[in-house]
Amino acid sequence: MRLGAMFGDMFRSLFKRPVTELYPFRKEPAPSRLRGALTYNPAKCTGCQLCVKDCPSNAIELITIDKANKRFVMRYYMDRCTFCAQCVQNCRFGCLGMSNEQWEMAALNKEAFTVHYGREEDLQKLLSTNPHE
Ligand code: SF4
Ligand code: SF4
Repeated sequence: MRLGAMFGDMFRSLFKRPVTELYPFRKEPAPSRLRGALTYNPAKCTGCQLCVKDCPSNAIELITIDKANKRFVMRYYMDRCTFCAQCVQNCRFGCLGMSNEQWEMAALNKEAFTVHYGREEDLQKLLSTNPHE
């Protein structure tokens, strides 16, 4: 690059806004179709297990709390998930989604990547009977 052109670029840059983002101090909304962490609505789940069978990464388990009353807890291994959304597409009851708000998933320990979804009372029941789950 010629020196004159370089100074021209430098001078013009003085009057432009920076193109870099100030992340993590300022966060822009993520695109609406971003595939972040899996979401689960226990109220709609029938326990059909299709999502579990279809997951290529073995990243979800469905734990039955009370089959007759359709009470389930989903265990999600975030660190195995490839965010392919196959489970979301194949759930016929619209229980699953991928959050465009929860996408910052770095953690200092592995345990943080295993999360449980379900009704509060079902989660308490599961975790109190199996505290190491
Ligand atoms: S596919 Fe949907 S309804 Fe079936 S177990 Fe999974 S989340 Fe529940
Ligand atoms: S997004 Fe893909 S990898 Fe992640 S839980 Fe669903 S099917 Fe499995």
